[in-house]
Amino acid sequence: METITENNTQKDSYRPYSQLELRDKRNNNMRRIKINNDLYVLHDTCRHFYKVKRYSKKERDIKESGSNYNVGNCSLCWSMKNNYRDMDEEFFENTLPDYLDIFYPEASDGEKIHLTPYAVDIENTVLRWINNQLY
Ligand SMILES: [Zn+2]
Repeated sequence: METITENNTQKDSYRPYSQLELRDKRNNNMRRIKINNDLYVLHDTCRHFYKVKRYSKKERDIKESGSNYNVGNCSLCWSMKNNYRDMDEEFFENTLPDYLDIFYPEASDGEKIHLTPYAVDIENTVLRWINNQLY
């Protein structure tokens, strides 16, 4: 006998989402956690990147220097060293690598990427984790 939960999950994952709808959801997510939706910082040595918090020192430094490369220390590296207990193995083995794969073209070249519910979801999770807004 199939459980209702399974059916619902399946139905949900097949429901078509428009790019507009997903962009809206993404904007709302970023607004809620006060992330600047248009500003990435990228770190050359570890190849990490993430969007920065609004009104943060990093946001200011990027705007002042006119460069979004290697601004300050990498918050993702910091979180991996200090906030790793917040996340499970699944996060480090799949979610985080997927985030870095999916959003790299946008972070590095400003390329418009094809959004999926999964992508929107993991971006939110990763950024909340980096910014200590999981709870
Ligand atoms: Zn890093």
